[in-house]
Amino acid sequence: MKKEFAVIGLGRFGGSIVDELREMDVDVLAIDINAERVKDFQDIATESVIADTTEEQVLNDLGLRNFDHVVVAIGDNIQSSILTTLLLKDIGVKKVTVKAQSTYHARVLDKIGADFVVHPERDMGRRIAHKLVSNSVLDYLELGGEYSVVEYLASEKLIGRSILALDIRAEFGISIIAIKRDDDIIVSPDPSLKILAADVLITIGNEEDLTGFEKKMME
Ligand code: ATP
Repeated sequence: MKKEFAVIGLGRFGGSIVDELREMDVDVLAIDINAERVKDFQDIATESVIADTTEEQVLNDLGLRNFDHVVVAIGDNIQSSILTTLLLKDIGVKKVTVKAQSTYHARVLDKIGADFVVHPERDMGRRIAHKLVSNSVLDYLELGGEYSVVEYLASEKLIGRSILALDIRAEFGISIIAIKRDDDIIVSPDPSLKILAADVLITIGNEEDLTGFEKKMME
């Protein structure tokens, strides 16, 4: 079944979501209060509309209740972002994803029923901080709660040893969920598998355990 997407707010964040959805050949309705921004997307989005989404009548006229997923990417105007989200949930949009500007903004969005709250600046900042601290950290993805998925480049201390010999789960409380080797991904690697130079370990664990592993095995 074809999904219907709408993006409200065509700044850098909302705009890149529109670009990417269109790259994937997904239909998207692009909305902004600013005529210039809408003009920039008229040849990219499937449809683009100038509208103020803080008015319920406008949301009804646009038929947004029939959309499967609406993204609210109104950045600086927190009041408009909250009001838009509230109205979208009120009229019955199934999934509403909202960009938060701050932790307080995120908390309000959670309370009023936003289905998915994203905080791109904070998340990207954390991701980059982890990469800065250790050269072995190739990528870092917070899963929510205390858990993260981290990609490590195999260090000298790991190369030539098996997962079993390293006893990673018992020793550090983290798990290796996959190993990237050349162009392959070995999912749920066998414990007897020896780690080779240039292997990338995809691990999962809580923040404290991952940090412990990094300190002991990655330096
Ligand atoms: P970023 O580039 O990081 O995404 P930004 O600074 O471009 O952030 P803002 O300008 O704060 O983000 O907001 C994004 C867009 O939301 C803007 O293009 C703005 O015109 C639009 N916008 C603001 N209020 C409304 C509203 N009530 N209805 C529709 N669009 C709105």
